[in-house]
Amino acid sequence: MSTNVKAAVARQVGGPLSIETLHLDDLRPDEARVRLVASGVCHTDAIVRDGVYPTPQPAVLGHEGAGIVEAVGDAVRSVQPGDHVILSTAHCGDCDSCKGGEPMYCDVLGPMNFGGRRTADGSTALRTEDGEEVSSHFFGQSSFATHANVSASSLVPIPSDVPLESVAFFGCGMQTGAGAILNELKPEAGSSVAVSGSGAVGLAAVMAARVAGATTIIATDLHDERLELAKELGATHGINPSKVDVVEEMKAITGGRGVNYILDTTAIPAVLQQLADALSIRGTLALVGAAEAGTEVPFEIGGSLLKGWTFKTIIEGSAVPQRFIPQLVELFQQGRFPADKLVKTYGLEDINQAFEDSASGATVKPVIVY
Ligand SMILES: [Zn+2]
Ligand SMILES: [Zn+2]
Repeated sequence: MSTNVKAAVARQVGGPLSIETLHLDDLRPDEARVRLVASGVCHTDAIVRDGVYPTPQPAVLGHEGAGIVEAVGDAVRSVQPGDHVILSTAHCGDCDSCKGGEPMYCDVLGPMNFGGRRTADGSTALRTEDGEEVSSHFFGQSSFATHANVSASSLVPIPSDVPLESVAFFGCGMQTGAGAILNELKPEAGSSVAVSGSGAVGLAAVMAARVAGATTIIATDLHDERLELAKELGATHGINPSKVDVVEEMKAITGGRGVNYILDTTAIPAVLQQLADALSIRGTLALVGAAEAGTEVPFEIGGSLLKGWTFKTIIEGSAVPQRFIPQLVELFQQGRFPADKLVKTYGLEDINQAFEDSASGATVKPVIVY
């Protein structure tokens, strides 16, 4: 059951995506054919387009897809044709991390999500009309296309009454920010949380911190309008690091104690170094932003030894996507996780504009609708 699809193809490191007709091959037993309805654009799509991670080009990127299942392979039990699904990170299901309930730390997370090929047989699902191979299965999906053969582990069924363009990006950005707070940092009611960088991931963390019951929620960003949005979504304070000293400000807001939980989405070494100084005793600084391999941060370890503090990295919110994403969807339906306030929609032919608006900050979360 092969078919033709319209897709955005990355062919040139750093260059614009081109809209092309591609051939999508037969469904494998462990895949579902999904008709995409919407797909978020995430920072990781841009850095893979730009060659920071080694997905071979040409490639169809896109890893925040949502759509409707049209067919399932013989081995797929979790969904049936007609089901609405959000697509998330692929994982093997067999390694120690997967079996231990931590699939986002899967032994083969890299090849399964960035390899551009099926890990089982090395094939790609996509070709041009001339027969040129195009990388598929980006995050098990390659969702910048009208249809995809999706790895079973990426499928997350959700109720059919949820507007897919409002929740498509729960599969990566929202899972990353909200999961870091709700699954990993777990701030106690009444605690203080700071979120460094108020992009989509940071704002997801702000919304989740409110859900968790944190009473001091500090957002930082270089753009004041982002800080205003963060406050609408639950931040109690906003800090613009271009105007004030972040460490002094965080200390002042927390009565001199420092912040209990700080989540950094920027991955800028100088920012992380400062944030470590703004932690409370027993505080935790966690990183979810992506930096190039080899990036280092020098932390003070003399005086800060007495604080008993923690630095950790978190992937995809340490989520079990099939469990966590439906929880976020339910919070969204209750109005407690109003992620649709971040969205601006674009047609597939305007995808390069969507990337530009994401990079410039004009749009918090571009969502492609098909
Ligand atoms: Zn695994
Ligand atoms: Zn992402």
